[in-house]
Amino acid sequence: MNTKTVELVAAPREPHFVGDGFRVHNYIPSGFRMDMQRMDPFIMLDYNSAFYFPPSEQPKGVGVHPHKGFETVTIAYKGKVQHHDSSGGGGVIGEGDVQWMTAGNGVLHKEFHEEEWSKNGGLFQMVQLWVNLPAKDKKSSPKYQAITKDQIKQVALPNGLGTVEVIAGNYQGTPGSASTFTPINLFNVRMKKGAEAKFDFPTSYTTAILVLEGSVVVNGTEEAPTDHLVLMNNDGTHFSIQANEDALVLVLGGEPIKEPIAAHGPFVMNTRQELVEAFNEYNQGKFGYLED
Ligand code: MN
Repeated sequence: MNTKTVELVAAPREPHFVGDGFRVHNYIPSGFRMDMQRMDPFIMLDYNSAFYFPPSEQPKGVGVHPHKGFETVTIAYKGKVQHHDSSGGGGVIGEGDVQWMTAGNGVLHKEFHEEEWSKNGGLFQMVQLWVNLPAKDKKSSPKYQAITKDQIKQVALPNGLGTVEVIAGNYQGTPGSASTFTPINLFNVRMKKGAEAKFDFPTSYTTAILVLEGSVVVNGTEEAPTDHLVLMNNDGTHFSIQANEDALVLVLGGEPIKEPIAAHGPFVMNTRQELVEAFNEYNQGKFGYLED
């Protein structure tokens, strides 16, 4: 058995606001060598660690904006988010739910705290992950997968010390709920103190562990505190996570697409020329219409 070893343990960067509703730490692509090429197929990872939003009559969030060429995956831990997009997709996701939106050949959307939740305020905790698409799939039509917590299959950890929620991919024979264009593993791992979870991803997979709550040890030696992201080397297949205390971690793995990346803001294409075209299409209203 060959071990996938730890490449680095990254501390959270200073948080910043996206719109007025998401207070996030950015991990990909803004540093620690975790640029889009190294993290392929993952091109962006923002984490809104648990943060209290006071009651607000006006829901906070991000107004209408475009995306093209990739997928946005929103994983809700605390709080509720309401989405609308120009392809007619939309809905509310709450605790334990996942929204997997394929921007494909271009979409407009907006992301706000859900109205009723906003009136009461509360703790808000979410991850937004951007997954790149291969060139051929950047042309696909926009699509929206609303995956509720009860649709996500769980695998029990040994000794009843927790669960692995299989959002995408496969964990020990249990398939994930999301359909993906390229092979992706995405798991929420809820661990009680003393739990151990074992994983087996291909050597080639870009693999990372985000510690959302509590602290864990990776491969029995590398400590990873709350809000830290552990990047694994591409040197083996097996790795394990041990919980010193109750913990919640997000495990992500993906087969690199290995195509050129030309990215600017909300557009991620393969060439500079395609980026220019994306801006033109957006300016010409070709991504449809969405009310503010
Ligand atoms: Mn967006």
